[in-house]
Amino acid sequence: MDKNLLLKTKFVLDEDIKNITTYKNVGKIAGAFYPKNQKELINTYKFLNSYHLPFIIIGNGSNMLIDEKNAILVISTRFVEHKIFCKNNVVNVSSSTTLKEIYNYCYNKSLGGFEKIADIPATVGGAIKNNASSFGQSIFDNLESIKVIKNDKIFTINKDEIQHNYHKTNLKNLLIISAKFNLKHKSKCQIINDYNYYSKLRHLSQPMGLCCGSVFKNPPNCKGAGSLIEQCRLKGFSINDAEISPVHANFIINKRNASFDDIFNLIKLCKKKVFIKYGIKLEEEVEIISKNKKF
Ligand SMILES: Cc1cc2nc3c(=O)[nH]c(=O)nc-3n(C[C@H](O)[C@H](O)[C@H](O)COP(=O)(O)OP(=O)(O)OC[C@H]3O[C@@H](n4cnc5c(N)ncnc54)[C@H](O)[C@@H]3O)c2cc1C
Repeated sequence: MDKNLLLKTKFVLDEDIKNITTYKNVGKIAGAFYPKNQKELINTYKFLNSYHLPFIIIGNGSNMLIDEKNAILVISTRFVEHKIFCKNNVVNVSSSTTLKEIYNYCYNKSLGGFEKIADIPATVGGAIKNNASSFGQSIFDNLESIKVIKNDKIFTINKDEIQHNYHKTNLKNLLIISAKFNLKHKSKCQIINDYNYYSKLRHLSQPMGLCCGSVFKNPPNCKGAGSLIEQCRLKGFSINDAEISPVHANFIINKRNASFDDIFNLIKLCKKKVFIKYGIKLEEEVEIISKNKKF
């Protein structure tokens, strides 16, 4: 770990949660590091690890609900240089790159594979960790390998060594630095037509506003989580500024100044009502970062 490099790395004490997650709930965390390149990113990770400081890595923060009562530190990858390059049809990207940026790059190179997932508001790191998917396409479909750091060691993990299933992987306690995707040639016209089709479908079915996407995973072999919640007559129900979307009940929207507790209590309510009515235990898709609040 390089102390001089650490001093050069941007750090915001008492950072607002509004600046690190798409939920933008009120409150602050202990502080956030904003490395601007891979050297600073790896150095910050090594520093926090070596002092056993509690920290989390955040990409775009689009799947996170953070409790403001947590004294945690964050490494945000958002401002780490976004690098994309390709050799033949293998595209190499830094983990801070967004799926939309990859889609745009691939469009210019006539490479298909990101059309259905381009509108997920994710960085590559967060998308791989969560096995992000939409319209039947997963980030893993075209993934070849990832470069990671764990306990001071940098190494490559091939896709077939990563366990992944529905919105879940076994990637824990490591930092994804970059990823390689193996894509297929496709005409620009076909790429853009497919993208427009799926983008339109998404906008027709999903509500607007500050959120984390789907709050719950769809339980296996039954109706979607949204439909179960809707049948408990919870659509449109709110606690202060947190609201179960009147458009799609699997979305909880922060209308302006919702707190962690407002959103958390709505999640708890949905779980309770669905369990009482159907005996189904809804599992959260959103990652809840809280020491005190457990279901
Ligand atoms: C409007 C909206 C629509 C959405 N639609 C979808 C959808 O269609 N499909 C879907 O699957 N999800 C969807 N989501 C959820 C979310 O976008 C995905 O889970 C996404 O993969 C999270 O990416 P992120 O960069 O925001 O990760 P974050 O939320 O920042 O982090 C997610 C996890 O990844 C870890 N992580 C992040 N970066 C790294 C890294 N470099 N190395 C190691 N670990 C890392 C974090 O610690 C955390 O555990 C949606 C969210 C929103 C707000």
